[in-house]
Amino acid sequence: MAATGKDSVLVIGGGISGLSAAWFLRRRGRAVRVLESQDRVGGVISSERRNGRLIELGPNSTLQKPGDGEDALGRLVAETGLSGQLVTAAPAADNRFVMRGGRLHALPASPFAFLASPLFSWPAKLRLLGEPFVGRGKGEETIAAFAERRLGREFLDYAVAPFVSGVYAGDPRVLSVRAAVPKVYDLKRRYGSLIVGAIARGAKGMGGPAGRLVSFDGGMATLPETIAGKLAAAVRTGCRVVALARRDGAWEARWRSATGAGVERARHVVVALPADAAADVVEPLSPEAAGLLRAIPYAPIVTAAVAYRRRQVGHPLDGFGFLVPRGEDAGLLGGLFSSTLFAGRAPAGTVLLTAFTGGATDPRAMDRDDETLTRRIAGDLARILDIKGTPLSVRLSRQPRAIPQYTLGHLERVARIEALLAPLGGLYLGASWRGGISVADCIRNGESLAARVA
Ligand SMILES: Cc1cc2nc3c(=O)[nH]c(=O)nc-3n(C[C@H](O)[C@H](O)[C@H](O)COP(=O)(O)OP(=O)(O)OC[C@H]3O[C@@H](n4cnc5c(N)ncnc54)[C@H](O)[C@@H]3O)c2cc1C
Repeated sequence: MAATGKDSVLVIGGGISGLSAAWFLRRRGRAVRVLESQDRVGGVISSERRNGRLIELGPNSTLQKPGDGEDALGRLVAETGLSGQLVTAAPAADNRFVMRGGRLHALPASPFAFLASPLFSWPAKLRLLGEPFVGRGKGEETIAAFAERRLGREFLDYAVAPFVSGVYAGDPRVLSVRAAVPKVYDLKRRYGSLIVGAIARGAKGMGGPAGRLVSFDGGMATLPETIAGKLAAAVRTGCRVVALARRDGAWEARWRSATGAGVERARHVVVALPADAAADVVEPLSPEAAGLLRAIPYAPIVTAAVAYRRRQVGHPLDGFGFLVPRGEDAGLLGGLFSSTLFAGRAPAGTVLLTAFTGGATDPRAMDRDDETLTRRIAGDLARILDIKGTPLSVRLSRQPRAIPQYTLGHLERVARIEALLAPLGGLYLGASWRGGISVADCIRNGESLAARVA
């Protein structure tokens, strides 16, 4: 690629973080280039069509906040012309199930349903009345310490911990409440109580988050693929950036591909890479920043897209999916009722489920062979969802570094990385290891990175 002008921006990484930054930079009139090491864009977002099924190997959907079109995701969808392909999850997605005592129970969506729910014991329910009077914790707290102190052990085990494994595939005993669930932390800080805060904000109950879950007719990969298609020649796949250097007031990125190597120059550079890959790239600039990036742990995930005939499945699949608390007798973190969520995901008369195993609490799941994983996952699904017979198909996918973990000290670590690299000028960092892990968070962060560069 040729050297570029004084407003040029090089984005390293063609996941949704990098592509969103590139898109919003282009909209601001910047000459932008993207270098992506794989031969496709999207990073962990990957959708596959197989035998009439639409399989997601990464995110199945993302949460669009209320106020259609007012958030970065809404703007990106509208500007890329994807509004007509955006699909909203079926209303049944408001139902979420949690396993307790080997059975699935709906998460209560109203105060009455909460009182009637067998998911929590009466002592646990009564304990909640005292929540507004619980005092402050000392220093930065883990999610587990915070939840147990405020809500009690049962809520930690059967509501908070499964939620944490559903979002982060994480362990609440190491994740920071302030970094990983800032909205929860903010409720407590502003209202003195989670419950008072939730009431004051008009929360929708425990059944689901405020907003709507969205995807695309062609699956989540539609979004990165469309952005890359519109950025056209500005996106180069198959180019791995191996080092960054500052020379004559500009940035130089050295890259390698299967057929050669080269150097790309730009005035600004956005490093939108997973933390370990970002560490390799900034190592020559700041070994300390690289060390801090490498200290951000990731949780591994095995995803299994499993298809059955509808008549094999006893459970009505009338919801988003289910979560499995750690104490329960099942190896799954949880599962999604993918063909309930969005129409057209499986041929008529069949259903598609997406099961997750591994995570920070069971990293060794990654090492099991396909046959063992398939047998265990299908066995768990059969018991939990009353399924008879074997699956029609199973598509396994292993991601050893799937989701960054915002552990204690995360925010200070990120601030220090920024402080170490800021004096170099014109270098911006952003991917799912900062500012939120959801697809919608990555897009919002991409938009604000673009604004900072501009
Ligand atoms: C299994 C799974 C399920 C998920 N489910 C959901 C969900 O339901 N809803 C939701 O909102 N979010 C979900 N997420 C989270 C969300 O998908 C991710 O956080 C987000 O897509 C990360 O995007 P990113 O661009 O920051 O990182 P990545 O997708 O990791 O992109 C980084 C890119 O950089 C490239 N790269 C790496 N090294 C180099 C290099 N040296 N040079 C050039 N390029 C390089 C990589 O190939 C990759 O394409 C899920 C994540 C996973 C893994």
